[in-house]
Amino acid sequence: MKIELSVFLTAIFSILIAVIMVIELLEERNKIMIKKDTHLKKQKCEVCTSLYFISSALKYWRCPFCNSLNK
Ligand SMILES: [Zn+2]
Repeated sequence: MKIELSVFLTAIFSILIAVIMVIELLEERNKIMIKKDTHLKKQKCEVCTSLYFISSALKYWRCPFCNSLNK
């Protein structure tokens, strides 16, 4: 009886771990999907004419090179 109980508990724990792993995998996949949804737009700095890839959701962005604000 004791052995059966421990086998039962081990089975439950391994199922739980498997379920948690699947949930984490799905969440990670969702994160990747969200990342793919935010398109990167090629933007040119109006001041120093450097090219950067900025998220198209941003209305304004700061040039990392000359630190000036661009639309
Ligand atoms: Zn710049």
